[in-house]
Amino acid sequence: MRKCQNCNMPFSWSKVYKAFLGWVYKPVTCDNCGAEHKLTFEGRLLFVSLTGLPMLLFVIFFSPFTNHLATLGAGLAILSIGSLFVPYFVKFKVA
Ligand SMILES: [Zn+2]
Repeated sequence: MRKCQNCNMPFSWSKVYKAFLGWVYKPVTCDNCGAEHKLTFEGRLLFVSLTGLPMLLFVIFFSPFTNHLATLGAGLAILSIGSLFVPYFVKFKVA
């Protein structure tokens, strides 16, 4: 799990996850020392490769559904599941 680069206070999963909600990235602020952490470029890349990429691959190449809505629903499910793992791998830097 990620922790504060300034004081080593661990960030909760939900705190990191919230920073990703809704595509608009917000910095993660440490509760202990108030340092703001921004996602690194690698972190953004990781986010895309854990969420958007598997979803696109599934929708374009691997979907077993002929129904577009079912394909889209499954694609969104993959995106949500992928995003659950993002807080474990993502990297931050102090703003
Ligand atoms: Zn801190």
